[in-house]
Amino acid sequence: VDDSEEPGSRTVPAACYSRIRTLQPLIRPTFVAQSLSALALLDLSERDVLSNPLAPEYLSGSRLLPGSEPAAHCYSGHQFGLFAGQLGDGAVMYLGEVESGTHGRWEIQVKGAGVTPYSRDGDGRKVLRSSIREFLCSEAMAALGIPSTRAASLVTSDLYVTRDPLNSGRRIPERCSVVLRLAPSFIRFGSFEIFLGRDDFSGLQGPSAGRHDIRAQLLDYVIEAFYPYIQQTHSNRKDRNMAFFREVRTRQTAKLVAQWQCVGFCHGVLNTDNMSILGLTLDYGPFGFMDRFDPDFVCNNSDKRGRYSYQAQPSMCRWNLARLAEALDSELDAAEAGAVLDQFMPTYEAFYLCIMRKKLGLVGKEEPEDSELISDLLRLMHNTGADFTNTFRLLSRVPWPDEGHSGRATVEPVVHLILEQCASIEELKVANKPTMEDRELAMILSMAQTNPVMFGMVADRPAVSQQLELMGRLKELLETDEDELKKKQRGDWICWVSRYRRRLARECDGTGDLSLIKKERLSVMNSTNPSVVLRNYIAQNAIQAAENGDFSEVNTLLKVLENPYSDAFAEPLDGPNACGEKEQNNRIL
Ligand code: AMP
Ligand code: MG
Ligand code: MG
Repeated sequence: VDDSEEPGSRTVPAACYSRIRTLQPLIRPTFVAQSLSALALLDLSERDVLSNPLAPEYLSGSRLLPGSEPAAHCYSGHQFGLFAGQLGDGAVMYLGEVESGTHGRWEIQVKGAGVTPYSRDGDGRKVLRSSIREFLCSEAMAALGIPSTRAASLVTSDLYVTRDPLNSGRRIPERCSVVLRLAPSFIRFGSFEIFLGRDDFSGLQGPSAGRHDIRAQLLDYVIEAFYPYIQQTHSNRKDRNMAFFREVRTRQTAKLVAQWQCVGFCHGVLNTDNMSILGLTLDYGPFGFMDRFDPDFVCNNSDKRGRYSYQAQPSMCRWNLARLAEALDSELDAAEAGAVLDQFMPTYEAFYLCIMRKKLGLVGKEEPEDSELISDLLRLMHNTGADFTNTFRLLSRVPWPDEGHSGRATVEPVVHLILEQCASIEELKVANKPTMEDRELAMILSMAQTNPVMFGMVADRPAVSQQLELMGRLKELLETDEDELKKKQRGDWICWVSRYRRRLARECDGTGDLSLIKKERLSVMNSTNPSVVLRNYIAQNAIQAAENGDFSEVNTLLKVLENPYSDAFAEPLDGPNACGEKEQNNRIL
């Protein structure tokens, strides 16, 4: 299907993609930044790019790269729990694939290159702030060791579109900007959902027409190209498909979400069209790294019910896998797929525990107590408003049990450091304010006295129990003397750190070399607990500077994020962490 018709809001029948025949060039495209490590995946050097005056045009989809056949992919998906019908690349243009001698094959895309047949009411453009966020976070994730689509360059221009960034009802002009993004494939769960409930695909001829229908051909392509070890080890098609589904569950989805949880990353829009079939972090929109630990953290302001909150991410990924299984129904045995899905949570939990143990520097034999040590730490972080990234980074400073005197004095310095970056009592009061209206809460509480059965039923609902929990915490904060609270917090931290040290003592069973164990603990911790993540307010500073024409902050930030486990940059970037500021920045997305 080509796009010779007027693009707009319409269904494109029997299409998995549409060719793009006409480019929509930017006006005076210029580079904001490049990622040298991502460019290297295409065998391009900084010099290749900077010495070519046309490079900003080529890398923004304003001029066609030789051999390129641009297209927009047509996919579908479930958005916020509901099947959304046709979606597709509305602001993305696929340029083709680059086969690099040393780095394999990469699909390249320009994001923000203009309308496609899938743009619906959108203009197919992206502005500087969203492009900076996608560019920086893609590269930050890769540097953290978390699978992600990559971003090779960021171009801005003198072409403007209007947006309403503050939702104030006032639209302002913003510069059109384009990220060049890379992945072995951008195929998503939604790429398979496009066939749901549609019979217009039945006559469609694919490259292996006659052999299979188009959905089966797409599945063959994904498995043959990206899961060759599964293709090679299964001669029976249904067995092969189930092995593939199991792999997507385990290696890709369960592992990926465990990695997100362990750096406090919230995706924000975990719809099935944003779920990569290769287990890559895909589509950076209103994502957020948590500052203070809060399991109910929601980074997407339009997600009013917290569907994609931090703690909901694993179960949402499982839900998305169930939709993938449905989309592959003719290719998978339903009962077997159900059994594979049933293992999602245990698989996820095993990955989570494995990474969390590394974050605590536990490298020896696993103990049944470890899970509780971790969940108690998180609860304490939540209660005291501890910063997720900084707290874990500080744990490597907890002295080994044979160092220093026994008792409180030894842990005092590290507890002091931890408490220093926890929330003030005032901030805790703000953070623990129930969001439900007073009237509604009062009604629920009066129910507790008059109708315990009914109360039991509503109190079980996640939203209600969360509000009641907040209310209880706020009450305690308001009723207790501030000095008392601080003393309690300090006591709780001393208690946890001491328990952690007793656990560390058991790492050495007397046979191993203690100095080696200590060394390994530190190196594992400092390569699992980043000292820097892309916090919203940090991104926002770079965005503001870039909007004023100064791209140096984006470039400095990129350098910092490329080495997230180094201590070198931690100080100036771990600055203030006020809740108010966080709120404000989330609204700017
Ligand atoms: P997302 O929530 O970013 O995953 O996007 C949902 C759908 O909206 C996808 O089909 C996107 O391609 C489309 N979309 C996002 N931004 C734009 C835009 N600026 N213009 C047209 N379509 C867009
Ligand atoms: Mg998307
Ligand atoms: Mg998006």
